[in-house]
Amino acid sequence: MRAPRRCQPGENPGIPPYSGRAGAVYWRLAFRRAERRVGIQGVIRALSKLGLLAVLSLVGACATFEPVDAHRRHHAQPAPAAPKPSPQDLAFAQFVKDFRATALGAGITPATYAAAMDGLKRNDRVEALTQTQPEFVKQVWTYLDTAASPRRVSDGQAAMAAQSAALANIEAKYGVPKEILVSIWGNETDFGRELGSFNIFEALATLAYDGKRTDWARSELLAALKMLQQEHLDAKDMVASWAGAFGQLQMLPSTFLKSAVDGDGDGKRDLWHSAPDALASAAVEVSNDGWQHGRTWGYEIKLPANFAYELADGDSAKPVADWSKLGVTTATGFALPANSEAGAIYLPAGARGPAFLTFGNFKVILKYNNAASYALAVCYLADLLAGRPAIVAAWPRDEAPLSQDERTALQAALIKLGYNPGKIDGIIGHDGKAALRLWQKAHNLPADGFPTMAVLAQILTEAKQKGS
Ligand code: CA
Repeated sequence: MRAPRRCQPGENPGIPPYSGRAGAVYWRLAFRRAERRVGIQGVIRALSKLGLLAVLSLVGACATFEPVDAHRRHHAQPAPAAPKPSPQDLAFAQFVKDFRATALGAGITPATYAAAMDGLKRNDRVEALTQTQPEFVKQVWTYLDTAASPRRVSDGQAAMAAQSAALANIEAKYGVPKEILVSIWGNETDFGRELGSFNIFEALATLAYDGKRTDWARSELLAALKMLQQEHLDAKDMVASWAGAFGQLQMLPSTFLKSAVDGDGDGKRDLWHSAPDALASAAVEVSNDGWQHGRTWGYEIKLPANFAYELADGDSAKPVADWSKLGVTTATGFALPANSEAGAIYLPAGARGPAFLTFGNFKVILKYNNAASYALAVCYLADLLAGRPAIVAAWPRDEAPLSQDERTALQAALIKLGYNPGKIDGIIGHDGKAALRLWQKAHNLPADGFPTMAVLAQILTEAKQKGS
């Protein structure tokens, strides 16, 4: 089983439950926002320090005019004691000490371990980011506004032109379309502009010493040490996201060991600095995940009036002919093209938004990053880069996202009404959407499982009436 790429699994309104781990991209985006916030706080901290320095300078300046006795008084005071290490710091230091045996047992040399791990500190920003729950989960259209913006498309076209020779070779060799690879590149790091701001060992060791994903993080940390040793890298140059994904297409160390190739033929596999290396390595990964050359990921469709929306759960695949019999057409009203693969209908924004028929290649992109909105963003930007048409149907932009408290209240109210939305955690996932569909069906509403403010209000009212 592939570990989640970046963050703890999450679920998100508007995302079909391809697995229990859907929604990771929203987490990632939320974490990136949080990271940016931390960045701002970092600036504030830096400014505070500057302020402190100014005060100290002032004190220093004043001190030069102090009487000699005052100086003596200051010097007579004992030096302040070093701050006591916190229990977390002690546990982290112990982990770094203990993990050495595991690493050496796996073939890491003492010199490699020392280069990566000596003097390593726990990173409290990484810890904070693992615990962040987004207050508002971005609606899918807001996400796509950035992910497939005109700027992203023109940058993608420029990137395709700049790497045209490498991309042609990669596509011929691995059978993954250049538009898909360039789209992943854009979605992951804005074509190499955002490579992450953490040291990979600091980030992974922080996730590895304690928390919910220590097993996963320990195996990635070991993979990162192997990578450092095999590739003769400099540990301090190995930057990554807070969750250990690195390079231009944000690969995990374990995936590097399985899939990384030298795309530019210089004898090195450098996913940070060489776009051909990063693109070719991602092509190997996508190909290994089952990308079928010459097949579509899917396309926009139009559903007939009175469609049974519970069929559009993103997971239940049917032969294309069966969807046609139910009145499903292309977005512009033509008969669905023949396809030997069964397809599932994905409604990213519920019954009022665009609908998509998705096939196996869509699921391959979900393996790269397990969130349907991420997969849609990659596939849609790839379509635009290939000159295919934009989404036809309008998004329900008047629908406001539910806050964390509102999502939690919705789950609690569904339980009160006898439904099973899963754990009350503010994440409307697979079970939450399934419960919502049942409630919608019982009320003769389109059973799309999409939580809106109107649905929330009605469910809360019913739960209150039931409670009184
Ligand atoms: Ca290379």
